Amino acid sequence: MSFEQLGLSTDLLRAISDQGYVNPTPIQEQAIPVILEGKDVMGGAQTGTGKTASFTLPMLQRLQIHANTSMSPAKHPVRALILVPTRELAMQVHDSVKTYSKYSALRSAVVYGGVSIDTQIDIVRSGVEILVATPGRLLDHIQQKTLTLAKVEVLILDEADRMLDMGFLPDIKQIIQLLPEHRQNLMFSATFSPEIKKLANKLLQNPVLIEVAKQNSVSELITHVVYPIESSKKQELLIHLIQRENLQQVLVFTRTKHGADRLAQRLKRHEITSEAIHGDRNQLQRTQALDNFKQGLIRVLVATDVAARGLDIEELSHVINFELPNNPEDYVHRIGRTGRAGAKGLAISLVSKEENNLLIEIEKLLGIKIKTEQIDGFELKETRIHDSRKSTISEEQRNKRGGLSKQSKKPHSFVKHSEKVVHFNKEVMTRNAKRGDNKVDDPLFTQPYISKYADVNALIEESSGLNKKNTHRQISKRPVPALFISPAINKQKKSEAS
Ligand code: AMP
Repeated sequence: MSFEQLGLSTDLLRAISDQGYVNPTPIQEQAIPVILEGKDVMGGAQTGTGKTASFTLPMLQRLQIHANTSMSPAKHPVRALILVPTRELAMQVHDSVKTYSKYSALRSAVVYGGVSIDTQIDIVRSGVEILVATPGRLLDHIQQKTLTLAKVEVLILDEADRMLDMGFLPDIKQIIQLLPEHRQNLMFSATFSPEIKKLANKLLQNPVLIEVAKQNSVSELITHVVYPIESSKKQELLIHLIQRENLQQVLVFTRTKHGADRLAQRLKRHEITSEAIHGDRNQLQRTQALDNFKQGLIRVLVATDVAARGLDIEELSHVINFELPNNPEDYVHRIGRTGRAGAKGLAISLVSKEENNLLIEIEKLLGIKIKTEQIDGFELKETRIHDSRKSTISEEQRNKRGGLSKQSKKPHSFVKHSEKVVHFNKEVMTRNAKRGDNKVDDPLFTQPYISKYADVNALIEESSGLNKKNTHRQISKRPVPALFISPAINKQKKSEAS
């Protein structure tokens, strides 16, 4: 199928062609016609499937009737709101919006936290039809009356599962209250937990369900390998691997922000250029670290899952899990950075005994037993219970075999199994249900996102200018726990239920 057959306008086709895209990806093929018809969509797709274009292109086409060149901000109200979990993803999605709307007069902007709000205020006040935003910063703008959402026609939640994981649910609920009732809703998520299904049920009207797995040609090229190692020797082993294989561009994942910082420092002391990217680093530092890595100025980017989510780093040959993620789905997200665009990829995990259970969960999700190997000087006597496929490889043997990437003669493919991640399937849902309340146990989320906006009614009144006098008392600055449901919403839910 070609893009022309999807019913897209000439301007959009031109923008697509400028990008060098020849054919739509599976999610684009399925989602574009449905979104053009104005239907709600629940999309199961990960980064790397072309999902951003799948919602951006039809959204731009539907909004084209509003395109105008007036200088008046009133002529450019927000018509499409795209909510995303992280700043990096916000920037990437906005880049896509700009790319595909380059031949249109529609205006767009991006707002996210961690940077000064002032510049954003000026841009947003001048009027934009398409707004990409992280939920917290969007509410800041609403409180400051920088913008109103009264004219929104399309709401898009991108990486909805991650937004819930990060504790954005209260903010999302508040934002939804500020939108017109009649609108199109599009929700994209890599996984379908019961929480996601609940949100989808509340938000979407007769949605069309569209699910795609990552493209097979990409995923088949990834080889997985596990090195059992004591926690205390992980840094040493990592340095050994990087130096011996002369790795020039490697993404390393840690579970905690401090861990990422410590590791980046240690690598630097061994003259391996590296930087850490995580939620505590400001926007400039994160963007700079990513640019340096992409340009090859640093060899190692040490990242936490949250910071790395959505990063579009292409042609990465190695991803190393310095620590396994608590959620097996994050393993799939992590290694999705490699094996892209037809390039071969190697996903290495350094696994301590304490992480064995996490490894088992990951193997269950992928449906494979990951090959376990050891390196001379870094052996762990007792590796895994029931692991019969352990092999110790000496330096000599390794050299004969031509280095790391040839260790697994028959690369394991996780293609078929990655489909499990995106399908409504019992196994994944049961696991998610079991995981349920554990989110706060994840070291990544020990400091969950805390909504500043506890009182939805106050915010609605405030943003519509109805309650100017009582502003300070009405808007609660009291921190609320993540996943807090405001009394107003609870009340509404109860009355809905009764
Ligand atoms: P996404 O899943 O939206 O993060 O997109 C992943 C990458 O695929 C981005 O670098 C896009 O520019 C690229 N892409 C999106 N659609 C297509 C297409 N139809 N053909 C080739 N590349 C595409």
